[in-house]
Amino acid sequence: MITRFAPSPTGPLHLGHAWAAMVADDLGRMHLRIEDIDRQRSKPEWEAAIFDDLRWLGLDWSGPVMRQSERMAAYGAALDRLWAAGLLFPCTCNRRDILAAASAPQEGAPLLGPDGVVYPGTCRGAPRGGARPNGVALRLDARVVGDLHWVERDKPRTMDAATFRDTIGDVVLARRDFGTSYHLAVTVDDAAQGITLVTRGHDLEEATPIHVALQRLLDLPRPTYHHHDLVRDAEGRRLAKRDDARSIASYRAAGWTAQALKDRLRQSRIAP
Ligand code: GLU
Ligand code: ZN
Repeated sequence: MITRFAPSPTGPLHLGHAWAAMVADDLGRMHLRIEDIDRQRSKPEWEAAIFDDLRWLGLDWSGPVMRQSERMAAYGAALDRLWAAGLLFPCTCNRRDILAAASAPQEGAPLLGPDGVVYPGTCRGAPRGGARPNGVALRLDARVVGDLHWVERDKPRTMDAATFRDTIGDVVLARRDFGTSYHLAVTVDDAAQGITLVTRGHDLEEATPIHVALQRLLDLPRPTYHHHDLVRDAEGRRLAKRDDARSIASYRAAGWTAQALKDRLRQSRIAP
């Protein structure tokens, strides 16, 4: 199996990241991808710390490191293809517009999808011809997504087209500020890195149908999936991305060895 560890260099690696990398390393040959499309929050020093902490943990990666900030041309090519097929539409709504439209009396209570409130379809009628517009969000028209099938830990999973439309909806594939989105980048990159088993935390499980839909629309191979449990604190709260007290660096500074920390994570996903 070819697996990957895909951290964002927006803060220190914490125990949750260490566990994600351990699962990727246990289940296959781990590739590394730096998810730095958010140029504001990504910092070179956090990227350097990722390499350093992984080496300290003894979790070596295979192949070249992929950096999403260097992959904009690949994301643009995927967007061009979807745009030319008429599957995307430009959207100028802000968060408040979306909430207002989704809360209109005839709509019932707004539904929450993987990216927040399910988009009510306001801009679907916007023109789709000509060159692909830049500097505006592009959404996938969920009505073109068919029934989806994938495998999670040996178990077949399906989502029918109507469920995708109603509970996920017209997801953003290009953000106005980034020119891509997490969903598009991760799908294009998993294919480019030849990933056969996507390992990542349960918190991302509900995004999987979006990635499976994109694999279909872009003719990309479909990996299988393994969503792992999350590391929590003693009160059962998920570790926050910026919980510096649980950073690998802080355990290193406190004298933990990599082996002791890894043993602890294997025994329990409760942070010491
Ligand atoms: N970059 C994401 C994170 O750090 C992980 C994305 C993925 O594994 O699909 O949470
Ligand atoms: Zn809109």
